[in-house]
Amino acid sequence: MDPHTTFCPNPDCPARGRTGAGNIRVHSRKERRYRCQVCGQTFTETKGTVAYRLRTALDVVSLVVALLSHGCPVAAIVFAFGLDERTVLKWFKRAGKHCQQVHEHLVEQPRDLGQVQADEIRSKLQGAVVWLAMALQVSTRLWLGGVVGRDRDLGLIKRLMQKVRACALCRPLLFCTDGLRAYVRAIRAVFREPVPTGQGGRPRLRPWEGVCLAQVVKQYAGRRVVGIVRRIAQGAEAQVQALLGGQRINTAYIERLNATFRARLANLVRRSRALARQASTLQAAMYLMGTVYNFCTEHQSLRLPGLVNGHKWIPRTPALAAGLADHCWTVRGVAAVSGAPATLDTAQTSRTAFSGNKTTRRSMVYLTTFRCGATLPQKIME
Ligand SMILES: [Zn+2]
Repeated sequence: MDPHTTFCPNPDCPARGRTGAGNIRVHSRKERRYRCQVCGQTFTETKGTVAYRLRTALDVVSLVVALLSHGCPVAAIVFAFGLDERTVLKWFKRAGKHCQQVHEHLVEQPRDLGQVQADEIRSKLQGAVVWLAMALQVSTRLWLGGVVGRDRDLGLIKRLMQKVRACALCRPLLFCTDGLRAYVRAIRAVFREPVPTGQGGRPRLRPWEGVCLAQVVKQYAGRRVVGIVRRIAQGAEAQVQALLGGQRINTAYIERLNATFRARLANLVRRSRALARQASTLQAAMYLMGTVYNFCTEHQSLRLPGLVNGHKWIPRTPALAAGLADHCWTVRGVAAVSGAPATLDTAQTSRTAFSGNKTTRRSMVYLTTFRCGATLPQKIME
C-alpha cells in the first residue's frame, strides 16, 4: 500500500484528488483501507477501480478481464476459475463501463489527427441486426471510439463523427471511408463552430476549414471485388494528397482493426452462436476491446528501430505513439486506473469550458485526475 500515490476520493473534501500532499495515511493494512487526514474519511484501496466492492482480488478480476478482452469464451473461464457465469458477465460489463470512462478521459482529448479512417461492422443480436461504426487515427493507429446503432444511417454516422470531433483539433483533417453517403452530411453537420457575435440568440455556425472526405467504393460481382473507385467527396485534391502522405486513398487500416475486433469478440464473429442479447453488452465489449487495444497491445507497425537492452526494436502501443502513455499498460493497470474528483480550480474551469449537457459536465468534474503510472504493475502473470 502506498499512500503517496493515492488521493482522497471524497467529492466534498477540500483536498480531493490530490496526490503526494501528505494528507493520506494507511488506515488498516488488514482491510487495505486508507484515511484522509483532512476530511477524516476512510476509503478502500480499490475505490474507483474495476474491483471496487467485489469479494475477489483485483489480480483475479483483471486476469478474467484480460481473457475476455481477447475473446476467451465465458464458458471456458467459468470452467477454469470455478466462477459463476453471471459473475463473469457482470465483470465483463463493469470492465466495459470502466474502459469507457478511461477512453473518454484519456483518448477524447483534442489533437491534430491528420488522416482518420472510419467504417461500419454489421453484427447480430438475438433477433436483431446492429451496426458498429468505428474510427481510427492512421498515423498512431489509435482507436478513436465507436458507436452502436440499429440502423446504418445518418444518425449513427453523426454520433460517430461527434466521437471523432471530441478527439480533433481544428486542423486539416482527412476522412477515408466507404461509399456511404451519410458521411458527407454528417461531417458537414458536426464539424462546425459557432461564430461569436456578442449578441443574444443562436449564433451562425461556420464549418471547419480543411476537413476533407475521400471515399473508396468497391464494386462487387457476387462476392468478389471486381473494381475500386476512389473519389474525393469534399476538399481540394492537393490537400487530400498532402494529408495522405504518398498513400493512395484507402480504408485498409480500419478494415484491419475491424478484423481484430471480429477475432476477439465472439459477438461479432460472422455466423456465431454467441449472440449478444442487448446493444449495451456489445457497447461494453467494444470499449473493453478498444481500450485494451489502445493501451495494452503492442502494434508491429508502430515499433521503432533502436538497440535497447539487447532488443532490436522498441515496441509501442497506439497510446504510446499518440503520447497518451509512457509505457505499455497491463490489463491490470487499466482495471486499476481510478478516476479522482477534480481539485477546486479544475472543477471550475471545466464547468465554464464544458457547458454541455449534465452528464458530460458531471463526468468531466469527477474524472479529471487519474491515478496511474508509478503504481501500475508491470506484468499481470508475474
Ligand atoms: Zn479527504
